[in-house]
Amino acid sequence: LGPGDDAAVLRLADGAECAVTVDLLTDGVDFRIGEVAPGRVGRKALAVSISDIAAMAARPLAAVIALALPRRGGKQLAIGLYEGLIPLAEKYDMSIAGGDINSWDGPLVISTTVIGQITARGPLCRHGARPGDRIVVTGQFGGSILGRHLDFDPRVDEALWLTENYDLRAGIDVSDGLSLDLSRLAAESGCGAVIDLALVPVADAARELSRQQGATEAELDSAALEHALSDGEDFELILAVAPEDAAQMIADQPLSITLTDIGQFIDQRGLWQIDADGRRCPLEAKGYLH
Ligand SMILES: [Mg+2]
Repeated sequence: LGPGDDAAVLRLADGAECAVTVDLLTDGVDFRIGEVAPGRVGRKALAVSISDIAAMAARPLAAVIALALPRRGGKQLAIGLYEGLIPLAEKYDMSIAGGDINSWDGPLVISTTVIGQITARGPLCRHGARPGDRIVVTGQFGGSILGRHLDFDPRVDEALWLTENYDLRAGIDVSDGLSLDLSRLAAESGCGAVIDLALVPVADAARELSRQQGATEAELDSAALEHALSDGEDFELILAVAPEDAAQMIADQPLSITLTDIGQFIDQRGLWQIDADGRRCPLEAKGYLH
């Protein structure tokens, strides 16, 4: 499986399959090193790649890490990054298998490559959603800039458990925005998606961010929903689930985090919304564009 999914999938000589993903994080774009502890940055760098492995319903095995360090204070910075990164690797029983370090006159750049093992259920790809499948999401959305974009837990155990126990047809992790990443999954599957806006799980942080940006109490719900649909860096999963399995999953609530059915995939391409009055109309896919 080549470019266009959350990770590539390679078939090894003995028939086993592995997933490979890489991320590149840059000071000033993905974090501001002057404003947060280096350990949180190191943790985030590894976590975003683990999240892509989770989106494939694969098990992370190892990482290789490349650093371009600023010349001044680079060694201390590298130590700080690893102090955050190593505990996360240990949590998933992953090895840091190697990497490369350089120093230069530019800002900190950190690149993480994670290799994962595809389970017997096969990789969870973006192209498997069918009309009638439900859109099920983990957790809550919006306002990650207030801190969750650094400290989130990639949904590895959740993805592995769900793929083992339910008929998951497609999946993606939300890096750039709920509406944007859902539209990408639907497009890869050759179908459309309808979100019932009233069902979107909005994070408290999305409300808090809306308040900080001056939303009045009357504007708060719609402002927070807008953040939930478009902020990105939630690193939750969007899953396409067979209808009967989705109903079972929602009734079971088998995880420590909430699973929510927010809509369904349909024949007609594009992204759609069911508004407060129950009408279906187009929904603009918004999110972070590099
Ligand atoms: Mg992804």
